[in-house]
Amino acid sequence: MTPSPAAVDAAGSLPTLVIDTAAVTANVRTIGAATSGEVMAVVKADAFGHGTVAVAHASLAGGATRFGVTNLAEAFDLRMAGFTERILSWLNPTDADFAAAAAHGIEVAVPGLSHLAALRTAPGLRVHLQLDTGMARDGATPEEWVALCREAATAEAAGLLSVVGVMGHLPCADRPGDLANEEGRARFAWGLRTAQELGLTPADHHLAATAATLSDPASHHSMSRIGAGLVGIDESRSVRLRPALTLTAPLVQVRRITAGTSVGYGHSWEAPRDTRLGLLALGYADGLPRLASNRAEVMVAHRRRPVVGRISMDMTIVDLGPEDGPDEAQEGDLVTVFGPGDAGEPSAAEWADWAETLEHEIVTGLGPRLHRITVGEPPAAPTRPTLTRIR
Ligand SMILES: *Cc1c(COP(=O)(O)O)cnc(C)c1O
Repeated sequence: MTPSPAAVDAAGSLPTLVIDTAAVTANVRTIGAATSGEVMAVVKADAFGHGTVAVAHASLAGGATRFGVTNLAEAFDLRMAGFTERILSWLNPTDADFAAAAAHGIEVAVPGLSHLAALRTAPGLRVHLQLDTGMARDGATPEEWVALCREAATAEAAGLLSVVGVMGHLPCADRPGDLANEEGRARFAWGLRTAQELGLTPADHHLAATAATLSDPASHHSMSRIGAGLVGIDESRSVRLRPALTLTAPLVQVRRITAGTSVGYGHSWEAPRDTRLGLLALGYADGLPRLASNRAEVMVAHRRRPVVGRISMDMTIVDLGPEDGPDEAQEGDLVTVFGPGDAGEPSAAEWADWAETLEHEIVTGLGPRLHRITVGEPPAAPTRPTLTRIR
């Protein structure tokens, strides 16, 4: 599907983010082919900045069967958008609205005894017990695990909840050979066995996220939780996934400067020769990292050009080179800041390198001011107005 003419007009005049949901669908298919387990689409943080609803539809089209999120508000948003699939939310504080979660069929992760106690106010919840498999970040410690399983079994026998899953998360899955992964897998296997020995019968066993799913079959179990992979990020770099974002912006001004001219805040760049500068109306408020100043490149008329001077809140300056002629960039020409890389344009991964960070941080940090166009989007599901009361 191509964007409507109106959308293209808008794209010509504003910095614009194009989200390709066909890439998401293809990525889910690629990942699904790598495992016999179920694929949970983790659409947290507005689906890594790509738009929850569009990415959720595209993920289902690619074979994902359910959703994962990191708070109940994200889960309720999915329900309000009409999604009836299973949804698991982890990372909730003990005073989260678990009664509303139960009422709307949201499953929750239980990372410890205090969280289990908090669920007494929400009978009927389906829960996934969460074991810390080596992050020391979230989940129950091995010391707490036995008690957690025992109390959960008691609560289940009393009809208060049902334990449908056991989950863990690997700390170093982007480094497939790392010993920590072997330890995490072993601890998860122990945790699952312990839960079963204590009378629990969880059908869902899930440890692997994107990197482990693509590079470590021993971590697969019955389901993978896929977030970054949906939008084309594979930290294990073992499979070619397809980035789903393209960011473009028009040149709002082109100027000619002479050798020795200093450019931008702090005069951090000085022109080594006469040249032409192009101005883009986007900056760090839109998610372009300031650390990429004087390092990044963009694509102007099929050529890469360097970003010069400081990236400021609303503006980025590009050295267009000294050439002059009918083929040179003009005010109004569209510049590609990043994209999938098909035409030689920089990728979000390169921007991440220039900013000494992860691609995840680039794509989730893109600002609300960018005009957004979603292409390849399947028809929207019917909305369910009865859910609009949910916070
Ligand atoms: C974000 C998250 C995922 C998804 O991880 P990716 O590497 O982005 O696929 C899986 N599990 C948990 C617990 C998460 O927080």
